[in-house]
Amino acid sequence: MAQDEQTGRLEIMQSSITINEQVFRRQQAERTRVLNNAAQRLVQRLLGCWQHDLSRPFTHQGRTYRVCMNCGLSRDFNLQTWETHGASYALAPSHTSSN
Ligand SMILES: [Zn+2]
Repeated sequence: MAQDEQTGRLEIMQSSITINEQVFRRQQAERTRVLNNAAQRLVQRLLGCWQHDLSRPFTHQGRTYRVCMNCGLSRDFNLQTWETHGASYALAPSHTSSN
């Protein structure tokens, strides 16, 4: 009887070690994923994303432009030709206060 009980306890210990190992591996994978996302976001902030997901054009303070939903960069939009043109650039709210 005592022998069976001890064997059972040992099995429980072994299975809990396996679970700990699984949790540890999952945490490591999660950490790697978070780091990759952070790196991706940093690159997006510096360079803009690989393929911009542009919003519909809208006019604000005499400018018509579209804004990327992913990285926040904007591109000018020509209402006459209905074309997006020019380089993507970060919106600078500071220069509206000057003049
Ligand atoms: Zn973008």
